[in-house]
Amino acid sequence: MKYIFVTGGVVSSLGKGIISSSIGKLLQAHGYSITIQKFDPYINVDPGTLNPYEHGECYVTEDGMETDLDLGHYERFTNIRTTRGNSVTTGRIYSTVIEKERRGDYLGKTIQVVPHITDEIKRRIRREDDPEKYDFIITEIGGTIGDIESMPFLEAIRQMRWENPGNVVCLHLTYIPYLKAADELKTKPTQHSVKEMQGLGLQPDILVLRTEKHLGDELMHKVASFCNVDRDCVVQSEDLPSIYEVPVAMQDQGLDRAILRKLGLPAEEKPALKGWKDFLARRASAVSTVKIALVGKYELQDAYKSIRESLQHAGVYNDRKVEIRFVNSEFLTMENVEEKLAGISGMVICPGFGQRGTEGKVVAAWYGRTRDIPTFGICFGMQMMVVEFARNVLGYADADSSEINPATTHNVIDIMEEQKNITRMGGTMRLGAYPCRLKEGSLAAGVYGCPEISERHRHRYEFNNAYREEFEAAGMKCTGINPKADLVEIVEIPGLKWYIAAQFHPEYRSTVLKPHPLFMSFVKAAIESSEK
Ligand code: GLN
Repeated sequence: MKYIFVTGGVVSSLGKGIISSSIGKLLQAHGYSITIQKFDPYINVDPGTLNPYEHGECYVTEDGMETDLDLGHYERFTNIRTTRGNSVTTGRIYSTVIEKERRGDYLGKTIQVVPHITDEIKRRIRREDDPEKYDFIITEIGGTIGDIESMPFLEAIRQMRWENPGNVVCLHLTYIPYLKAADELKTKPTQHSVKEMQGLGLQPDILVLRTEKHLGDELMHKVASFCNVDRDCVVQSEDLPSIYEVPVAMQDQGLDRAILRKLGLPAEEKPALKGWKDFLARRASAVSTVKIALVGKYELQDAYKSIRESLQHAGVYNDRKVEIRFVNSEFLTMENVEEKLAGISGMVICPGFGQRGTEGKVVAAWYGRTRDIPTFGICFGMQMMVVEFARNVLGYADADSSEINPATTHNVIDIMEEQKNITRMGGTMRLGAYPCRLKEGSLAAGVYGCPEISERHRHRYEFNNAYREEFEAAGMKCTGINPKADLVEIVEIPGLKWYIAAQFHPEYRSTVLKPHPLFMSFVKAAIESSEK
């Protein structure tokens, strides 16, 4: 087993997740099997309890783990399926060690950061609980070198390197700032960051320099010599029009070959990147745009990361650039909806929790339904489309989700029985992949092209089956049903061009090489509706 560690220096947000994903992609292209995992230094046991403003979107794996959004990049780039083992936090490490201590596993011993915490980190880095074997385990360490929180992780890497000589590569991603007034690119922060690593007993093998300006050979040489790294192990990562161009840019500079050489492994003469390059070429050749509104409450780009990426994938395969217009549902009203959604060809009504911004989602659902604009509801977005239908078609003026109005007399969205007595919030929603049977002849069945699907969930509330017949009779059909629990997973209005809503999150499954059928079909419908 070979290990690659990806750390970051100087500042955060350099795109370690994209670099890790790109390395994974390139190693696959050389015929190696890989997995990518993220180790985050915060104390939350998982990011499920974090607000999107703190940490961006929460990504959900097939096996129902709420994880860091970087796992979404790992899956979208490499088509691998991550599991609960691929997302680890300091909180998870400590809770495991403390549980073992209480059980008596270490009887008589003083439990310390070194070796007990570092041993648990190493156990997880090696994926001792994973039956699957990989040629490469890529481990991305969250945070920046120098943070107090990441120290135990770095010590664990130092030990791993010492224990596995020749099988470990440390890649460090840093930043080369450009000073406009001096017209100079500065290497000093990188030198400091590498010194800091060296002080911890870690020598980076590879440096990836993030930069907004092209770096000349002289500067790259200087970084290599000052940081004790081979010249061909210093590569630059300039800003690119799309994150999906990063693997090719890394390959052009020989990053894949440098890694393989360091580990004494053979490299393919022509790595298999055809599908990927076809995607990029198709993306570049799309000229016309399709405008899609994203109706949600978080302005932050990262809050709906997977939905944004899924729309981009679907756009490429429909030969269009997708222009996303974020529409803040908190300020969307019956008075301004016409103006706010003017010129859009389709809308996605986004997932969410809590009261804020819900009425705007109901307004968007009404607008999409009554103007016959392709509308795609996801999770809470679906729930608000159901509420809108109950209010304006079934005539139940106070219809609501009991999450938003517990006193409503028409709880068309209600809490699941098994959720009623849950008091602990962490990791207790309906999470992960569940099967769903599609009704023959429905739009959903046509979109998927198969009778049974499996999609990932993250919610506590459900369509209230007591109202199912009324909805169906009035024109909103329940076309996706969980076969075991008889829960409604998809609703649609057949008379409209494309009005579909899902209780699950299809966006977690769209990848560059396998765009999601619902997003593909939605974007296609939006294009057709705008071109009519
Ligand atoms: N708040 C809703 C629920 O818990 C929807 C969650 C979501 O959109 N992910 O059911």
